[in-house]
Amino acid sequence: MSGGAGTSQRTLTFPKKTVRDVDVSGKRVLVRVDFNVPLEGEGSDRRVADDTRIRAALPTIEYLRGQGARVLLVSHLGRPQDREPELSMAPVAKRLDELTAGRVVQASAVFGDEVERDVGRMLVGDVLLLENSRYEPGEIKNDPQLAAELAKLADGYVNDAFGTAHRAHATTEGVARLLPSVAGLLLEREVTILSSLLVDPERPFCVILGGAKVADKAGVIERFLEIADSILIGGAICFSFFRAQGIATGDSLVEDQGVELARRALERAKGSNCRLTLPSDLVIGDRFAADAEIRTIEGVEVLEGWMGLDIGPATASGYADEIGKSGTVLWSGPMGAFELPPFAAATRTVAQAVAATAGTSVVGGGDSVAALEQFGLADRVDHVSTGGGASLELLEGKSLPGLEALADA
Ligand code: ADP
Ligand code: MG
Repeated sequence: MSGGAGTSQRTLTFPKKTVRDVDVSGKRVLVRVDFNVPLEGEGSDRRVADDTRIRAALPTIEYLRGQGARVLLVSHLGRPQDREPELSMAPVAKRLDELTAGRVVQASAVFGDEVERDVGRMLVGDVLLLENSRYEPGEIKNDPQLAAELAKLADGYVNDAFGTAHRAHATTEGVARLLPSVAGLLLEREVTILSSLLVDPERPFCVILGGAKVADKAGVIERFLEIADSILIGGAICFSFFRAQGIATGDSLVEDQGVELARRALERAKGSNCRLTLPSDLVIGDRFAADAEIRTIEGVEVLEGWMGLDIGPATASGYADEIGKSGTVLWSGPMGAFELPPFAAATRTVAQAVAATAGTSVVGGGDSVAALEQFGLADRVDHVSTGGGASLELLEGKSLPGLEALADA
């Protein structure tokens, strides 16, 4: 890492107004945050298992409080079907209260009379956390009525939820159309750094893609064939590429749709200046389990009864060398089934190389970030994105509805 993300940042201007461009003093500001955090424990002992996303929103929350705003926070949490109490924001409110200097009050609902009374009692600098936005069926339908109820609660809106900016929901898009709306500091930082990779990356620019689904990564592969100097493929997605090349993949994870997408990417790679590299050796197992029978094979042919569960040591060390020589590195998707210790080696090798490179390093994707954290390397990467799907969509060049809805700079 080099701190270089900051350097390239200067070459781009953020297209939207941010919290720094508006006067929020004395105002009620509704902030969409991404507090969709993992929970652990049961009943009243339920607590936040990983507070990374809560901490990522603190700069915006503290900035607004410092400017004299009354801060209303709203987020979704999990996928409630019927207002399950296990998915209440209570554990989040508790953790947020510990992390902020002030008092955090938890609202009993997403909107309504009682919430309006809570808002009416707020003093400057107070923080009110609304209930799980997906307790309301109108949230994911982007229901205009829900958006209007939310808009009634506040004088202005801030989107700081990069992780859900690719969704047009009532709290990310609908309400933004009804209030003066600007970006929070996290959203600004995520978009600026990720966009800078598309514009003027330090070269050579090396992209490492792995993970489970080709469909998630195909758009990014095609985009980076035009932008990057090298794409290194690992994870389960390499087996769709092998199948497309007519190589036996045994019981490895291959989706039908993936083979077609891989074939197209291989075709595009032929006419591109970017090198697309597939693994040359593998670690295979006889089943997806930590106590599977394991072999390391030279070559990539996988026989029936076996599945490829990690890229091999020669491939991983070749990838690490290339990462070390790169000016910019983007990594998304683990190299193998890293949750199973026997198949975590290549993901660890790549994570260490990404952390150690002198070039600018950016990591996106829920599982890649979890791997980085598991190896204790997250602090050594220039930018760890809080958005999985959102970061991939942005890198593909798609527009993010949650960003589009904000006031232009
Ligand atoms: P991210 O969240 O970083 O974008 P994905 O969600 O695409 O990554 O993929 C992560 C998952 O891919 C992990 O659960 C991992 O076990 C799985 N995976 C990686 N390589 C393999 C493989 N060879 N076989 C089966 N699963 C794999
Ligand atoms: Mg994932």
